[in-house]
Amino acid sequence: MSAPRLEIDLDKIQHNACTLVERLASRGIAVTGVTKAFLGNPDIVHALLRAGVRSLGDSRIENIDSMRRANIEAPLALIRSPMLSQAEQVVALADVSFNTELEVIRKLSSVALKTNRNHGIVLMVELGDLREGIMPGELENTVLEILGLPNILLKGIGTNLACRCGVSPDASNMAELSALADAIEARFKIQLSIVSGGNSGNLQWALSGADTGRINDLRLGESILLGCETLQRQTIDGLYTDAISLIAEVIESKDKPAQPWGEIAQNAFGEHTVIRKQGTIAQAILAIGRQDIDPDGLEAPDGIEILGASSDHLILDTGASYLPVGSELRFQLNYSALTRAMSSPFVTQHIMGGNTELVSNYF
Ligand SMILES: *Cc1c(COP(=O)(O)O)cnc(C)c1O
Repeated sequence: MSAPRLEIDLDKIQHNACTLVERLASRGIAVTGVTKAFLGNPDIVHALLRAGVRSLGDSRIENIDSMRRANIEAPLALIRSPMLSQAEQVVALADVSFNTELEVIRKLSSVALKTNRNHGIVLMVELGDLREGIMPGELENTVLEILGLPNILLKGIGTNLACRCGVSPDASNMAELSALADAIEARFKIQLSIVSGGNSGNLQWALSGADTGRINDLRLGESILLGCETLQRQTIDGLYTDAISLIAEVIESKDKPAQPWGEIAQNAFGEHTVIRKQGTIAQAILAIGRQDIDPDGLEAPDGIEILGASSDHLILDTGASYLPVGSELRFQLNYSALTRAMSSPFVTQHIMGGNTELVSNYF
């Protein structure tokens, strides 16, 4: 089998998604499956849909385009504010987009009018994490203007926490989002069908038994794929953490001194390396590198330590074991390593389960 490759177990992904869908349903919350980490791969999307996710969200219009081409039949949302330069594609491909800039929404409206389509809008509200969002005090004025825009349908509001600054979703910021939804409905005599509370970082709050108020949607990516919440990266009870793993192949295996020799300057990435180990180590090189993964996001098997990585080489201390050239090693990945591996044209994807056994490369 070709290496490096991602082994993707659709049954485990479906189990994870289904478990979260059921637990959140009991709290009155539906799941938007977030597809960006796997670039909208239709096999994985179908596993999410079998699990009962209500809609799909992606931050890249290109991935939404792929899902359209694969005839995915679920509402598709662009969950990053559209680029002005992509307004035509956004209106043509996405049912809904998440927005924070009136200028963009005006452009979406004019494109929608011209092409005789309707386009849904979820307005993102800033609640403290300082990534995207309209300041709460500006929300009503924004709504006032977009209600007058042709071919634009205001579907709801949302927020995103726990991403840039790690601000945790809690009773107070979630109650604020609910109150904003109530206030808009009361002032404008409209109904907001979506109140999207956040991402995998919201699970602890949503499943804690707290009053979920008006929140009726969470956008989940990492928790479905990796089985953890994202505030402390704790495993979620009953979920698989090994639905996806990475396999790479050994291309060199030698006993080498732990310490480099010669005059030491910057490495290939402008860093000064400090190596504490002394003596001789069993060093192995795998044919994968920073172009394909985030080396800090890989978890090696017990007894094996990742020493470093350049663009195309991953260097290991294999400890007491000797890894012959040609042998393979399996790693668990964090989200950062996963997204990079999924988007590397050098990493194939071996999809298992879901009643299919197929090897594909996205490119
Ligand atoms: C990526 C993303 C998500 C999903 O986040 P996870 O932590 O993977 O669940 C949700 N909302 C927005 C706006 C995103 O960009």
